[in-house]
Amino acid sequence: MSQQMHLTQLGWSGFFQQQLSLEQWQQGTLARVSAVHRSIIEVITADFKPLSLPILSNMTDLTVGDWILCDDQGHLLDVLQRFSLFSRKAAGNKAQLQLIAANIDTVFIVCALNNNFNLSRIERYLALAKEAAVEPVVVLSKADLCQDIEHALAQVAALDPMLMVVALNCLDEQSKSVLQPWCKPGKTVAVLGSSGVGKSSLINTLLGHEQLLTGNAREQDSRGRHTTTGRTLHLMADGGLLLDTPGMRELQLSDCEQGVEATFADVTSLVEQCRFSDCHHQTEPGCAVQAALADGTLSARRFNNYQKLLKEQAHNSATLAQRRQREKQLHRGYRSIINAAQQRKKGG
Ligand code: GDP
Ligand code: ZN
Repeated sequence: MSQQMHLTQLGWSGFFQQQLSLEQWQQGTLARVSAVHRSIIEVITADFKPLSLPILSNMTDLTVGDWILCDDQGHLLDVLQRFSLFSRKAAGNKAQLQLIAANIDTVFIVCALNNNFNLSRIERYLALAKEAAVEPVVVLSKADLCQDIEHALAQVAALDPMLMVVALNCLDEQSKSVLQPWCKPGKTVAVLGSSGVGKSSLINTLLGHEQLLTGNAREQDSRGRHTTTGRTLHLMADGGLLLDTPGMRELQLSDCEQGVEATFADVTSLVEQCRFSDCHHQTEPGCAVQAALADGTLSARRFNNYQKLLKEQAHNSATLAQRRQREKQLHRGYRSIINAAQQRKKGG
């Protein structure tokens, strides 16, 4: 098989090709990041060879799914522009965005058809997907345990007429064909959803063999103890790529206003029709939101969730900005202490 074919299988496309000069194309080695560890980055090259690169202190932030150009010695030359990116607020005190995964084509938002079925949670994941510029597909799992699948499908479809939604049993081999349209060769998919909805089961089914442990072992990952060194980029039986990284499971809304607005395009357009531009959508005359709530075209649940998610992402982004500010001040504080100490030294 030619190198070009392999590259295409790994997700290479015209989007990346046009970013390279002929010289870069001829001299560098192209590779896709398959795992990021503390001190090394694992990549897969066009000839499907795994390679590790040391992480250097001055190196650009890389994440799983990134395309890079490196030289023969495995030194990073360039990171290609991403067409999609999941990121989140860094845990702990680090006031920065942490990159979770790049260049994902489709994300399966998994929601179980049991008593955990929750439209607001689906909206939350939709906002994350839209913010990341990744196409969402809502996957209603545990369909085998549900009495009224049609009703659930209709409820999800009502969120957005363009939204793709399927119902399936994650443990059933047949489900692979339901998701096949998004798992074609060269396409990268990822799975998002709350704990227990069937993500690991679905991933096992998509990979065609028991590659991941279901249940407890995965839970440990999501609590931050990810000592796993396994690769997170997998080739699926039908040729697509599956990107599975623990960080996806803890995704929060931060700096996600666009994602929320895109998910609630109907609400946003109502807001624009209110008579007053600073309408609070409560008792103001000419409020298009109140009118839609009254005539039933907008559900109270959806409107409340829109407001809640907007507020939540603003809060998370604010704390991020505040933390940055605080660190800056702290840094300035240190500097003045050092300066004062130096002055004292000079003086004494
Ligand atoms: P995760 O936490 O999202 O990775 O969920 P798991 O894949 O670990 O699944 C949680 C539990 O639900 C396991 O006991 C699975 O066997 C079960 N399960 C997952 N998907 C389905 C499904 O579609 N139907 C049924 N009946 N059980 C499922
Ligand atoms: Zn209003």
